[in-house]
Amino acid sequence: MSSPDSRARRGHLFVLAAPSGAGKTTLIEKLMRRDPSLVVSVSHTTRPKRASETDGVHYHFVDEAAFASLRDADEFLEWARVFDHAYGTSRDTVVAKLATGHDVILEIDWQGAAQIRRRHPDAVSIFVLPPSQAALIERLNTRGQDRPEVIAKRLQQAVDDMSHHDEFDYLVVNDDFDEAVLRLRRIVHATRAGERLPKEDHTALLGELLRTPPKTNRSEDRAAQRW
Ligand code: 5GP
Repeated sequence: MSSPDSRARRGHLFVLAAPSGAGKTTLIEKLMRRDPSLVVSVSHTTRPKRASETDGVHYHFVDEAAFASLRDADEFLEWARVFDHAYGTSRDTVVAKLATGHDVILEIDWQGAAQIRRRHPDAVSIFVLPPSQAALIERLNTRGQDRPEVIAKRLQQAVDDMSHHDEFDYLVVNDDFDEAVLRLRRIVHATRAGERLPKEDHTALLGELLRTPPKTNRSEDRAAQRW
């Protein structure tokens, strides 16, 4: 006879990726507030903590040695190097949450998404796009957390990241924030119902987003690029 636990619904695994500056974190926060049965996995990282972040809430901040020992002990469901730092998803936490029926969101990069796809073919992957390259530049500049050379590097990285858009099940454009949250909610509900929504066609936008970014992010040059 099966126990109540073994009859419990197994949770769904969602992967949400986006280039830096696409507004992914704010989207997820709103999505979570609207849907308490979703949980976001807290990753481990070797990146230094930002002033606005709390250890154990935004990330588990660890040094390279601690990260390496977790990785070598196969504690990560996936891991990758992003911007010179290591990031990884704790296997045990995710597996335990899924087993108790929670739907889990992994907020990870495209490299991690590719690993999850291989190990969990049922995972639903979503890529969040900014509404334009100008908006992306603007957002990278207004975060005020990083130096200009770091921002320029992140912009090039963002274009490289977005070139992986076709590996994902869904695209969500973060133009109108509430619309984007609604689309995410629809994707979650469809997945729970065992359905798949059509993938939106954003060919024109992607053409604009994937062009070579400007070499500088000085404000007067940005102003000249606006349209
Ligand atoms: P940030 O340092 O700005 O918080 O994140 C940088 C990038 O690392 C983002 O694209 C973020 O999604 C990604 N990232 C965060 N946690 C993980 C993780 O556990 N695994 C992977 N592969 N990427 C992650």
